[in-house]
Amino acid sequence: MSDVVIYSKDWCPYCDRAKELLERKGVTFELIDITADRAHEDEMIQRTGRYTVPQIFIGNTHVGGSDDLYALDRSGELDALLAAAGAAPGNGDAEAAATGETASLEAGFLERLHDVIIIGSGPAGLTAAIYAARADLKPLCIEGAQAGGQLTITTDVDNYPGFPEGIMGPELMDQWRKQAARFETGFITQDVTKVDFSQRPFRVWVGEKEYRSRSIIISTGATARSMGLDSEKKLLGHGVSMCATCDGFFFRDQVIYVVGGGDTAMEEATFLTRFASKVIVIHRRDNLRASRIMQDKAFANPKIEFLWDSAVEEVLGTEENKVRGLKIRNLKTDVITEHECTGLFVAIGHKPNTDLFTGMLTMEHGYIITEKDSTRTSLEGVFACGDVQDTIYRQAVTAAGSGCMAAMDAERWLENQES
Ligand SMILES: Cc1cc2nc3c(=O)[nH]c(=O)nc-3n(C[C@H](O)[C@H](O)[C@H](O)COP(=O)(O)OP(=O)(O)OC[C@H]3O[C@@H](n4cnc5c(N)ncnc54)[C@H](O)[C@@H]3O)c2cc1C
Repeated sequence: MSDVVIYSKDWCPYCDRAKELLERKGVTFELIDITADRAHEDEMIQRTGRYTVPQIFIGNTHVGGSDDLYALDRSGELDALLAAAGAAPGNGDAEAAATGETASLEAGFLERLHDVIIIGSGPAGLTAAIYAARADLKPLCIEGAQAGGQLTITTDVDNYPGFPEGIMGPELMDQWRKQAARFETGFITQDVTKVDFSQRPFRVWVGEKEYRSRSIIISTGATARSMGLDSEKKLLGHGVSMCATCDGFFFRDQVIYVVGGGDTAMEEATFLTRFASKVIVIHRRDNLRASRIMQDKAFANPKIEFLWDSAVEEVLGTEENKVRGLKIRNLKTDVITEHECTGLFVAIGHKPNTDLFTGMLTMEHGYIITEKDSTRTSLEGVFACGDVQDTIYRQAVTAAGSGCMAAMDAERWLENQES
């Protein structure tokens, strides 16, 4: 057995991200596919007590999931842990591994004064990268820890034009990234941690490293919202999940609850009926916010039931820290009832990822305001595209369209600047 083990499954974007980091470091690892053999699934649950993949072991240390692995890398502890387990970084590009930079960047690329830095690599950021690169702006895309964005946590994408049979989200984003890379885009697979837009050139930091650019395209998208309960946080990964496509598989023939009343909740509930014996949707109101087509699909599914005017008060756990049930409050009568279940999927929408830019740009409810028919923000030279500035459509194709607009807006703006 290798010193590094990843329990993984097919179509698991978080598994891919974990593998990507270790590969960049030149670390060899053993992959255990829990879908191939039920004994592997049981073994993983027994070793970790967790119902979510990936689960990573370095030597005898249980690291946790992909986010835990990246957090260890950011704090500088990962290399020491690998070394202690005899799995020290090998033939990867050590510097690139440490910074998350694309290993093949031309010398001096990162240090130069960039024409454009794109922050985020979902449909909006990668489209902006393709257009900016084709305009010879040689963009630097700081793609964030969730490279590829939200579509990497879904399965079938049936509504993206050009794929008559549909395409899996992670595969679509993989192709998209390759297209951006083909036209000379530099990538850094880490989160931007600080920006200074108070003077030009603009400055952007990833940890201690500083990058400078004449213009900026923000495409940081949105993140799933949580209910804000302590018990929800405690049992996350132990029966509470934010991603049906990632974790639904663990709840075969079980009763699952889904919180939410929008498109995402209906999509998750419908998807979960592939595994669950019953899916119960908990919603605060007595009617759904979801689009008519998604509502009709959910109402027509015999495995889906609804609990109206209700909210989760507490997620109940066992001594072994697994979900055993929910306390649910009826918001009309205030009566609290207990419900047995093993899984809870939270699908209550998204929060735009704009904390980094607070106080620098005009925003409303956290969304960046852009000028009509443009991607210009309140600050000259800074452009925003995709879900981070879209309160209405929030689709891959609209994010891509606005990514194209942002690159063209940035290019035209740069043309009018003195160099
Ligand atoms: C489960 C699910 C299923 C969906 N299915 C569909 C579908 O079938 N069809 C469809 O059209 N749309 C679908 N959507 C919506 C679609 O995914 C979004 O509209 C689209 O991804 C938005 O693209 P974006 O580029 O604006 O942002 P995102 O995809 O959210 O990407 C944001 C990017 O910003 C990066 N980032 C965030 N913070 C930082 C930081 N500090 N530094 C650097 N980078 C950062 C992230 O790493 C990520 O790469 C789905 C969404 C979900 C959640």
